[in-house]
Amino acid sequence: MLQTVPAFDRIGEENAFAVLARATELAHQGRDIVNLGIGQPDFHTPEHIVEAAVKALRDGYHGYTPATGILPAREAVVRRTLATTGIEVSPDNVMILPGGKPTMYAAIVMFGEPGAEILYPDPGFPIYRSMIEFTGATPVPVPIREENGFAFSAEETLSLITPKTRLLILNSPANPTGGVTPREEIAKLAKGLEAHPHVAILSDEIYDVMTYDAEAATSLLTFPEIRDRLIVLNGWSKTWAMTGWRLGWSIWPDDLYDKVRKLAVNCWSCVNAPAQYAGIAAIDGPQDDVDKMMRAFDARRQIVVEGLNSLEGITCLTPKGAFYAFPNIGATGWKAKALASALLEEAGVALIGGPDFGILGEGYIRLSYANSEENILRAIERMREFLAR
Ligand code: PLP
Repeated sequence: MLQTVPAFDRIGEENAFAVLARATELAHQGRDIVNLGIGQPDFHTPEHIVEAAVKALRDGYHGYTPATGILPAREAVVRRTLATTGIEVSPDNVMILPGGKPTMYAAIVMFGEPGAEILYPDPGFPIYRSMIEFTGATPVPVPIREENGFAFSAEETLSLITPKTRLLILNSPANPTGGVTPREEIAKLAKGLEAHPHVAILSDEIYDVMTYDAEAATSLLTFPEIRDRLIVLNGWSKTWAMTGWRLGWSIWPDDLYDKVRKLAVNCWSCVNAPAQYAGIAAIDGPQDDVDKMMRAFDARRQIVVEGLNSLEGITCLTPKGAFYAFPNIGATGWKAKALASALLEEAGVALIGGPDFGILGEGYIRLSYANSEENILRAIERMREFLAR
């Protein structure tokens, strides 16, 4: 047996992909599966975006691009950032990468090493912890609490910082909880971080415009006091239904930009050119399809929350952002992963157990409501029957 370095024994997974594989396998066996597992919009990428990529290919954009991304794509990100945050960044601080995850990877490998501590949300996107462990750094969970509306607490976050803390990862609107942290709380955190200038910040804002009830998300970019050590992760996957295109962007402080550029040169060279042209069309083109998608998510959000709250032993807060519901299943008597597995195998409903998002995810399950109203209602009825058995 070949011996790999220990880091590969510490690397984790995103169990949503395993659940997707199992759900697909069951469907191939003829089972009728309602999939509320994987977090991706069930809409097609808007037509004008697809056309821009096709045109780019026809126009001969087949080659390598600069590792940082083509200037027009970086300039499009500048316009988009100004429109959503009111902050004007320079295209020289914008990186175009193959998805949101590569920014996570780049930021975590830049600061993670044995002896370093990295703070990350728990429950939170599973790749944060996995990559922290990969680097040998110590993962320090920042609790995300239901009683706090699944917002993070500035006070609790700041209390976990030590001289060894190198990186703080934040995510609002959040996966898996749908929590949106209020602006006052983020302002308090930014202020408190002034006392810890050795801590870099990775703000995962991939769901930035996916909020409801007129509650806008707050970008960490709007706090000038931390700009020189802030990395903002964003991308096209969720907002424009482009998960399979592998297209993301991030905004880096001057000191780190050349480091991430070099990492790109070493790892993936550049993002494929037609995807970058599609990305420009997504930002600059009509947003009607995005609005339509958000209206559909909002309607489904009401249905899923109402449905879950009607089930014995389950209570569900109304999520304020993204497209996930994170109900509390404590009173059902089930462990979360066992319930998720039983619901898939016995009731044909794919969803994710809370512990796949961290230790504090026990007692919860995650449902992605990026599925039709009809399927959501079918899933709820199947859960009702299952829980009544
Ligand atoms: N960040 C969060 C919070 C996510 O939920 C996801 C995807 O599920 C990503 C990043 C990764 O996005 P991408 O598919 O563009 O790599």
